[in-house]
Amino acid sequence: MEKEEGEDWEPVDTTSLGRATWTFLHTLAANYPKKPTAVEKTRMMLFMAHFSDLYPCEVCQSGLKDIVTKTPPEVESNKTFTRWMCKVHNGVNEHLGKELFDCSKVDERWGVCESCKVYREDLNAFKNLIRSIPSSKSG
Ligand SMILES: Cc1cc2nc3c(=O)[nH]c(=O)nc-3n(C[C@H](O)[C@H](O)[C@H](O)COP(=O)(O)OP(=O)(O)OC[C@H]3O[C@@H](n4cnc5c(N)ncnc54)[C@H](O)[C@@H]3O)c2cc1C
Repeated sequence: MEKEEGEDWEPVDTTSLGRATWTFLHTLAANYPKKPTAVEKTRMMLFMAHFSDLYPCEVCQSGLKDIVTKTPPEVESNKTFTRWMCKVHNGVNEHLGKELFDCSKVDERWGVCESCKVYREDLNAFKNLIRSIPSSKSG
């Protein structure tokens, strides 16, 4: 497949993967409930355990696994989890000799993604659209 002029297809590296992943992880934390249920807490613990096993950068993965084992995810509330994520990121920043981030500013930096919210009407319209598509098995 030919690269179109102006298209940005730089290969993924630890830097671009890291930046995208932190955006995902901090946004995940920002959207974590203020008062999570027991199921939501367990789900997040499991997610972080699997995530730290599977993160596809060998050198990063071993460091991350170490941090998550020594400092298990603090999933009691949105506040504890967003701060925990900030501490984890600062652990990596420290390891890389980067400046540490002020975790009191984490909500300001990583507020909830407004455009990520699905409104009920949009969701119903989407479900109706899916129902209207003939299934490949029936056709
Ligand atoms: C789990 C994980 C482990 C990694 N391990 C390594 C490794 O071992 N070696 C390696 O070379 N790279 C590693 N990386 C990549 C590295 O952390 C950076 O993502 C990459 O170097 C790009 O750095 P950056 O300066 O663009 O900012 P990033 O560190 O990617 O941060 C993006 C933005 O997040 C904000 N931010 C910074 N610190 C915090 C914080 N503590 N809390 C909240 N927000 C913050 C800042 O606004 C910053 O611009 C890892 C990434 C991840 C996700």
